[in-house]
Order: sequence, then structure tokens, then C-alpha cells
Amino acid sequence: MDKPELKNFTKPESIKDYPVGPSFSGGHLVSVNSGWRTFKPVVALDTCTGCYRCYLVCPDGVIVKTEAGKVAVDYDFCKGCGVCAHECPFDAIEMVKEDLQK
Ligand code: SF4
Ligand code: SF4
Repeated sequence: MDKPELKNFTKPESIKDYPVGPSFSGGHLVSVNSGWRTFKPVVALDTCTGCYRCYLVCPDGVIVKTEAGKVAVDYDFCKGCGVCAHECPFDAIEMVKEDLQK
């Protein structure tokens, strides 16, 4: 999957480290979830039928179709909103608490 040019998030350690303007220059995105996502969607591939409803409703477009006819979540950009899990007609997506210690 093609992604925009990525840049890692680094946690500011003092007030001087905070940007005075946009956090990143144009064309860059934070490459990994920066720590505020508390739940993440996990797809049960044996239950998933490949109906692609989650793919259609994800507000951030971070669910991708796989060659196996199922779906996968791009966790670098998923915000953990839970819309996909709510809308899956087969209950194939479970929102699982993040392990924030990792
Ligand atoms: S909505 Fe559910 S069954 Fe349909 S593709 Fe997504 S995870 Fe699979
Ligand atoms: S939790 Fe939200 S952002 Fe993440 S894949 Fe599901 S619908 Fe998309």
C-alpha cells in the first residue's frame, strides 16, 4: 500500500519543543499512532465474509482489501473510532484495548 511521506512522532519534552506553527511540514504525516488511541479494531478473519462494509464506512479510509478477499487495518493511521466494528454486520471486528506500555 502506498503511503504519503512519513515522519515519526517525537514526544515534546519541554514547552520549547512544541511547534509554533503546523506540527509537520506539508507532505508529511506522523507514521505511527502517537499514543492517544485507546482501542484498536481487530478483524477476526475466520468470521469476516469480505462484504467490505467496514472498508466503505471507515472515515479515515484506513481499511484495505486483501488478496484473500478479506480486510486489514492500517494501524499507522487508524484513530480507533470504532465505526467499523459498529457497522460490521457479522460482528467480525472487535475493539481491543491498546497495550500502551509498548
Ligand atoms: S464489515 Fe465485517 S464482514 Fe464485512 S469486510 Fe468488514 S470485517 Fe469483514
Ligand atoms: S476504528 Fe475507525 S479509523 Fe480505525 S479502521 Fe475502524 S473505522 Fe477506521
